[in-house]
Amino acid sequence: MEWKNLPAHGASYDASWDTVIRQSTIGQFQLCPMRVGLTNNEGFLSPVNEKMVFGTCTHYLAEQDLVSGSERLDLLTNMGEWVEPILSEQYDWSLDQVYDPIAFFSELGVAYRTWRQQVHPLMKGSVAIEQEMWLPLGEGNNSYLSAGKPDQAMIWLKGTPDAVYEDRIVDLKTSGKAWSQAKADLSIQASLYMSLTKQELEIGIRKFTFYVYDRSKSRWDTIDTERTVPQINAALLTAYNYGLQHEAKIYPATPVPEANFNKKRGWYCQPHFCGAWNICDSKYINDGYDYTKVAIRSWN
Ligand code: SF4
Repeated sequence: MEWKNLPAHGASYDASWDTVIRQSTIGQFQLCPMRVGLTNNEGFLSPVNEKMVFGTCTHYLAEQDLVSGSERLDLLTNMGEWVEPILSEQYDWSLDQVYDPIAFFSELGVAYRTWRQQVHPLMKGSVAIEQEMWLPLGEGNNSYLSAGKPDQAMIWLKGTPDAVYEDRIVDLKTSGKAWSQAKADLSIQASLYMSLTKQELEIGIRKFTFYVYDRSKSRWDTIDTERTVPQINAALLTAYNYGLQHEAKIYPATPVPEANFNKKRGWYCQPHFCGAWNICDSKYINDGYDYTKVAIRSWN
């Protein structure tokens, strides 16, 4: 699929046969495909940690504000009531397991209030808020036809931009430190969400704004980035290829960042970062790492 061919018509999603790829899954593939392959296996530890939940909760506050069209200070006075369901439903965690809920709630309140002051005035006039979008990237496995599928299996891109405007797409992030411009410029998410927006809303936007909450400074930074058509086409091809790999269930283990990196494992291949650590045999590389460490799900 290419930018010039969007929106594409004719395909409809078939959950029985088609394959869905998201930018978050692409991110996992880029670290270690084996982790994607082991995700639903017995013993895989679904991730939970303070950083992820903080991001989800901050996002929830902004989303509720944008959807309702009014300031949601009420959500700051009953945090337990909505944080607990987010913890249990999205992370299989509980408020009792949060290390310091008062400090956690307090920082959430600061993040929301500063978002309201600094970012909310810049987020008026959207054409879509939190709209789930789909894009057919291309054909998938032919052999499904002989296995009973009535038409060609497809690879689909799926994503939910936080907000879309006539001239840009916006995404909210939280981070322990300030983002670099390069991080935004290299984000595949921006290219893919531009494509999803052209597919679903028929608006050809090539500008993207990340509003990033820097927790170390309690401040929202604005980072704008743009994409050329060749860059977007390259991102679509990358997503399609990962979709084909996902469909074919090809999940090689890549615990080292580069083959010529003297077999020093990547930061992501550790019990603290990889939910597959306890069930993955490919983590045993000759780098002196303590393999007796057992991964546990923890808040910090
Ligand atoms: S333990 Fe290492 S090799 Fe195994 S899935 Fe995780 S990152 Fe990949």
